[in-house]
Amino acid sequence: ATPMSIMTATGRGAQAGVLIKDAEALERFAAVDTLIVDKTGTLTEGRPKLTDVIAADGFDEDDILRLAASVEKGSEHPLAEAIVEGARRRELSLADTTDFDAVTGKGVHGAVDGRKVALGNRAMMEDLGIGTAALEARADDLRADGKTAMFVAVDERLGGIVAVADPIKETTPAAIRALHESGLTVIMATGDNERTASAVARTLGIDDIRAGLLPEQKQALIEELRAGGAKVAMAGDGVNDAPALAAADVGIAMGTGADVAVESAGITLVKGDLNGIVRARKLARATIRNIR
Ligand code: ADP
Ligand code: MG
Repeated sequence: ATPMSIMTATGRGAQAGVLIKDAEALERFAAVDTLIVDKTGTLTEGRPKLTDVIAADGFDEDDILRLAASVEKGSEHPLAEAIVEGARRRELSLADTTDFDAVTGKGVHGAVDGRKVALGNRAMMEDLGIGTAALEARADDLRADGKTAMFVAVDERLGGIVAVADPIKETTPAAIRALHESGLTVIMATGDNERTASAVARTLGIDDIRAGLLPEQKQALIEELRAGGAKVAMAGDGVNDAPALAAADVGIAMGTGADVAVESAGITLVKGDLNGIVRARKLARATIRNIR
């Protein structure tokens, strides 16, 4: 192999959209043995599509979707965009929402046409004191297919479910194999539900999953693994995952286009795709081999 200096490596990386902060980040990444990856937008396209709408007894499907989408207009979450887009495709006219609020890792709520509407995961419903038992079996069926099922509550009653599916990126399966070959244990960390997460993990041969995590719990997971002696890299989006990125030996920010400057990241991938991590790993290991 030809000798590769750190400057050559960072230069080559940059050309391929792999921005390495400094020599230290490169060196640390060569020594990493465990890679934590966020699911949404990292393993998957991050552009989910609405797949199912279920109304509980006494509720109407179109009404549930219209109320859900009206609230989600105020959210920038990829799940929200899928619900709004799904309602538009069904030609439902959305209403204005007042008192909008988003709860990180859980869901959203607001007032629509004088009704209180909330949607999100089971934790969101628990916070509002709304039981989900009546629809759990339906939700489990959706999750077993790798879909994300969100409960919709209307005026403090469980009104239905909206489900979305986020396709796995075409490049993900081969990238996971290459990461395994480079000696990394790959763990999926997600705010999504356990069943949905394991359906996705199973198809990809991911080593372990941690589901239902809030952003600060992702950070705690990394601290726990590091305390156990692992050398940990964390790949996620710069927005929600900033605390986790900062807690890792190497934070890898998965860019989504223009806005890629992430303070706490040792490595930033301009194109948010796992192949960038494969490339960074090769560069890091080749460089370190040549220094020693
Ligand atoms: P991830 O870690 O997969 O990126 P998040 O932490 O963003 O997931 O969200 C975790 C869960 O919280 C989602 O799977 C969903 O059930 C719920 N949730 C978050 N934001 C919203 C939203 N805008 N609308 C409905 N549900 C939401
Ligand atoms: Mg996320």
